[in-house]
Amino acid sequence: MRIGVLALQGDFDAHRRRLEELGAEVVLVKKPEQLDSVDGLVIPGGESGTFLKLLGEEGFEKLKKFVRLKPTFGTCAGAILLAAEVENPKQQGLGAIDIGIRRNAYGRQIDSSIREGKFVSGLNRELARLPLEMVFIRAPKIERVGAAVEVIATEGKDDDPVAVREGNVMAATFHPELSDDTRLHQAFLDLCRNKNVADHR
Ligand code: GLN
Repeated sequence: MRIGVLALQGDFDAHRRRLEELGAEVVLVKKPEQLDSVDGLVIPGGESGTFLKLLGEEGFEKLKKFVRLKPTFGTCAGAILLAAEVENPKQQGLGAIDIGIRRNAYGRQIDSSIREGKFVSGLNRELARLPLEMVFIRAPKIERVGAAVEVIATEGKDDDPVAVREGNVMAATFHPELSDDTRLHQAFLDLCRNKNVADHR
């Protein structure tokens, strides 16, 4: 199975290493046409506005088609790119997952932190019991979750949704590639293998 990692900017290399560790063949995607040869795509963290600039109109349109056909996992800036609505400031999204997301939502004081959250679905019960370390870096906040969106993981006293899935698209507001825990990437690879994550709970 060949998984692409969008490698225009940001921390794509940590995703590459993690996916390879889990047995995937990884292609660093720098040109739109490379999307034709991969079975799934990770959009890493970085700066979502910069991603949009670097993608250009052609890249954006190609990516928009891709995310409707093949499994895609966006982390942090990647989650912002996949969202239906983006605030602070308003920005174009791919509309691949029905969430509303606010950029840089945690303010200056705690804009980057390591916190502990929990899985609420999308994994078998045994795996889901263990807490999940979450690295947030100038993280966005998911402010609206559409009816068809499954919340995979939450964080904080209000159980804020921080990892979500709709169909073949997963998004996380933190950086799972920066923790040792491999469960979220594994869940994505399972999705790519066409094992619906809901099937093996
Ligand atoms: N603050 C960035 C943005 O708005 C996201 C930060 C990240 O990806 N770590 O795009």
